[in-house]
Amino acid sequence: MRVCLLASGSRGNATLIESDGCHLLIDAGLSAREIDRRLREIGLSADDLDALLVTHEHHDHVSGIGPLARRHKIPVYIVPETAAAISRLGSIADIRYITAGQRFTHAGLEISSFSTTHDAVDPIGFTIDSREGRIGYATDLGLSTRLVVDRLEGSRILVLESNHDEQMLLDGPYPWHLKQRIQGRHGHLSNRSAAELLQRLAWDGLEAVFLAHLSEENNHPELAQQEIARMFATCPGCTPQIFLGQQASISHSFCARGPESGSEESTDVC
Ligand SMILES: [Zn+2]
Ligand SMILES: [Zn+2]
Repeated sequence: MRVCLLASGSRGNATLIESDGCHLLIDAGLSAREIDRRLREIGLSADDLDALLVTHEHHDHVSGIGPLARRHKIPVYIVPETAAAISRLGSIADIRYITAGQRFTHAGLEISSFSTTHDAVDPIGFTIDSREGRIGYATDLGLSTRLVVDRLEGSRILVLESNHDEQMLLDGPYPWHLKQRIQGRHGHLSNRSAAELLQRLAWDGLEAVFLAHLSEENNHPELAQQEIARMFATCPGCTPQIFLGQQASISHSFCARGPESGSEESTDVC
């Protein structure tokens, strides 16, 4: 089991998920070539990807989907309205349409999608379940709804948005309408909202939390990390490793062995 954020932020997102020997990529907001290059940094390549999952149509999540799928013959799971909203998706030989809330299997993995509140046509998050446990993924959401909490509960690894510091956003250079959009119900989660969501998801089986989609203008990695660490200090028995997504380079990887080989964990070298 392995998770690595190949890129995270408003200029491109892509997350590698490996579970039970299957390699998924959630979103591809970098060029196909750059995704392949970053995968090679962790000993993989785009040819190793078994499927692409798409959360929503914003450019920072989909710019590499078409070329990656065509060049490396990878199936793409996507909501039809999302596919229609991507202006330059191009033709994809193996496109598998899903709906928000649908459960499906791919190479033995049980994958569920769930609706998120964000200013896209039909945005979704994912959970991926295997013998090795649950991985939960939710970025680009304005609110942590009851549905989001229900679906992400029991995750062994979580990838969650921690987009902005509320004060930095208010004091920052963005025009007022953009500040309103980001902090609105269909915008992005602040560090504080991410901490509140994590508090509801904390349990003793939570081993790793990836903080994703950090704003370069309205956040500092240290602020996000401090907010989350403060919250976990109030949750005895829940001591996950915290990882930070970055825009310009890959994150550290979280790796864990399968249930039959014990729970030894490592970071980076998998
Ligand atoms: Zn985004
Ligand atoms: Zn978005």
